[in-house]
Amino acid sequence: MRYEHSIERSTELLRAALPLMSRQQSALHPISYAVWYEYVCGGNPSLREAVDAQLAQHQALDEVRTRELFTRHIAEIDPGTAQRVSDGFSRVLTGMAESAALAGDQTARFGDSLSRLSADLLVEHDPGSTLLALQDSTRDMQSAMARLQQRLAESQREILQLRDEVRQARQDSLIDSLTGLANRRAFDERMQQWAGGDGPPHAGADPHAFLMLADIDHFKRVNDTYGHAFGDQVIKAVAQVLQQFMPGGGLAARIGGEEFALLMPAADAQQARDLAEQVRRRIAGSRIRRQGRADEAIERITVSLGLTRCRPGDSAAAVIDRADQALYQSKQGGRDRVTLLAA
Ligand code: GH3
Ligand code: MG
Ligand code: MG
Repeated sequence: MRYEHSIERSTELLRAALPLMSRQQSALHPISYAVWYEYVCGGNPSLREAVDAQLAQHQALDEVRTRELFTRHIAEIDPGTAQRVSDGFSRVLTGMAESAALAGDQTARFGDSLSRLSADLLVEHDPGSTLLALQDSTRDMQSAMARLQQRLAESQREILQLRDEVRQARQDSLIDSLTGLANRRAFDERMQQWAGGDGPPHAGADPHAFLMLADIDHFKRVNDTYGHAFGDQVIKAVAQVLQQFMPGGGLAARIGGEEFALLMPAADAQQARDLAEQVRRRIAGSRIRRQGRADEAIERITVSLGLTRCRPGDSAAAVIDRADQALYQSKQGGRDRVTLLAA
């Protein structure tokens, strides 16, 4: 959802962000650019609120506050990417400044020769050659403008590429590397939108939002018996089932070692429960074989599931806590089962 802007829109945002950014006490690096880009694009209300609150209190953002806002409301980017983006960004700014300076020089020269030539025209000693000279100056001016336009187009392309890099880095920071599911951070972000009320219009009070937590049963035993590598294979297999059953608009995440979450829209509690049951049965029914040992029968893998509805006024923490209680009841009740709380 972030940074889907067209070149034109991102250039507008750049124009809006630069003056705000340069008014702060923080240097002009990609971190402060990201903060101000998000601020002006308006897609990050919690960041905007936090920035406004900081400005009301301190007038300008310093380095520490800028970084804090970035970490809390945008993302952590790995140092390598940050460096690459930073280098690219200063290249773009330098290029733009140079082009603007060149165009400025050229315009000044053009102005000078215009006044000189109009003075010549007034005394009229050779109107023909004066007009030719005027034509030359105009051509020079035109090619200077064409060069400027080309430089600006190049800068735009570079900005677009940098934006993609930031987007990729951000995406990487939201994905669990073992399973390819959303990670804990992505889950927390989405939970804040679904419950807690500062997300999309349907959030918080949506009677169709359910949270399912799943925890692999006796997983320690699986690891102890078959080894950690096989344990990882089991985690991946469970993740695949969740991904497969995730309804459109939902989110499947690995939120801990052998713990998963499925945020799902459902028509009602019955539908949500049916889906959880299908997930449970599919996992219990699958036979995960160890690589190279296809003939070896291994113990059945099962999961316990806790399910709850996101009720109006619930905070994200309250919903997670209730789903956790439901999961605990499934474990207490004998595992390999679904418990629904607060339908
Ligand atoms: P319960 O049915 O009560 O959930 O029992 P359990 O053994 O699954 O739960 P417990 O929390 O005692 O153990 C979870 C184990 O999961 C312990 C840990 O070594 C293992 N684990 C956590 N993360 C990973 C991982 O990424 N890979 C593997 N292979 N094992 C992991
Ligand atoms: Mg666990
Ligand atoms: Mg477990």
